Amino acid sequence: MSTIFKDIIDRKIKANIIYETSDILAFEDINAIAPHHYLIIPKKEIKNVNNITSDDEKILGRLFIAAKKIAKKLKFQKDGFRLIINCNKDGGQTVYHLHMHLVAGRKFSWPPG
Ligand code: 5GP
Repeated sequence: MSTIFKDIIDRKIKANIIYETSDILAFEDINAIAPHHYLIIPKKEIKNVNNITSDDEKILGRLFIAAKKIAKKLKFQKDGFRLIINCNKDGGQTVYHLHMHLVAGRKFSWPPG
């Protein structure tokens, strides 16, 4: 089943897109928890980590490549950042289209709440 992220990919819903390739899209989170908060998603609809297969190996690697490139472009790679992937209810997933949160611009605590 499609989610709001599919509508963002299809440009039916607006988002501040900061990075795009043929199979990856990254845009600002509408409810940012940090000065930098982006969502990096595969254009392929994958529900969450439970649904990835070995066919997805390349695209999963590209999520990380996107994160690295965005961090470099926006100049927070040295100070650091956090990548988060939530899965299902205990992981706090609310949108069921696989996504990597890229957050930066402040110090994050550990362990997470
Ligand atoms: P999750 O909780 O599933 O890991 O993260 C979903 C994220 O999507 C949340 O941080 C939420 O703020 C963001 N989000 C939900 N709807 C929209 C939307 O329509 N546009 C954008 N840009 N972000 C959204």
